[in-house]
Amino acid sequence: MERKIINSITMASVVLTILCGVVLYLCPNLHTSAMEQQVAMTNGVSMGESVLGLIRANTEMTQQSPLEAEEHPVMHHLRMQIPDNVNIQHISFINNYLYNTILIKVPGLGNTYFYDYPMIGSCNHIVDMTYGSANNVGLIEITLDNVYELTYTYDDKYMYIDFVNPRDVYDYIVVVDAGHGGIDVGCSHSGVLEKQLTLSIVQKMKEYFDQDNHRIGVYYTRLDDSDMALAQRVGLANQLEADLFLSVHINSTASGRTSSIHGTEVMYRVSDTTGQSKAFAQNCLQALLDGIGSKSRGVVAGDEIKIVRTAEMPVALVEVGYITNKEELQLMQTEEYQDRAAEALYHAVVQTLTEKEE
Ligand SMILES: [Zn+2]
Repeated sequence: MERKIINSITMASVVLTILCGVVLYLCPNLHTSAMEQQVAMTNGVSMGESVLGLIRANTEMTQQSPLEAEEHPVMHHLRMQIPDNVNIQHISFINNYLYNTILIKVPGLGNTYFYDYPMIGSCNHIVDMTYGSANNVGLIEITLDNVYELTYTYDDKYMYIDFVNPRDVYDYIVVVDAGHGGIDVGCSHSGVLEKQLTLSIVQKMKEYFDQDNHRIGVYYTRLDDSDMALAQRVGLANQLEADLFLSVHINSTASGRTSSIHGTEVMYRVSDTTGQSKAFAQNCLQALLDGIGSKSRGVVAGDEIKIVRTAEMPVALVEVGYITNKEELQLMQTEEYQDRAAEALYHAVVQTLTEKEE
């Protein structure tokens, strides 16, 4: 969604390119060589107007005094001057981690702001950086070479931005996947679509994780009705080197017709010889049986399923119940049942992570 907004900005936008090197605006002696390195590294990369000229001019003009440097001894990736009459609370950050991009929205920022007040700094994780302004809101889109969390500090004049490895922020990393989405509706029955049920359950799981204090970084493949390739879903988990990958689905008979077949089934990766995928699947199954009172259909080999087979961490693909079973279909549409399933899966994740530690 946010990407579309950025892409639609056709006005003369400043394209900022900051590549390679170390932040050196606090180190006057190294400044020149760093800039030469930047220029060298940027040769051959054409992403519109380079901001290098702006960086250099600005750095010379606003070189911090030794005193100021002492106050800010930490070297940050980017430093942005906070516009006058912009409250830092009104600056918003959106981490589109599926696309390795971070969007910074700053109200009251005109098109030419960064000509006058360039961003300073550099980070070798930055692949690209674009800037545009629409409806008096400045949009900075930073493309990174992996998933990072943005952290920032600020003083009266500047905001200091850093891109941090999720591992440095969280003790555990989990990817939760709401099966299907967009034009891929999954299975369906009586007008109910699998993609809607899986999304409802995952949205409720997010509420549990948001209140959790185990320092678990949870990344979702979708929290709306977006369309996503299987490779992208498992790709997020693999890229993050997640501790666990959980994919939530609803089952159906092969024919798609109403049937008495019902119950909960969890797939795991047999080729995970450590047994961790199976253990995770068993935890999910048991938690669901306890939580929603469904019938057990056991844990089963899921290696023929792409996202199970290609996950490089313990994975569980949960089939909560059957959309083709009248009773389960009815239950799975209720908020209460969805909430109990969500809570059960949340507990299964926490349990599996803490077991891992023991
Ligand atoms: Zn499915």
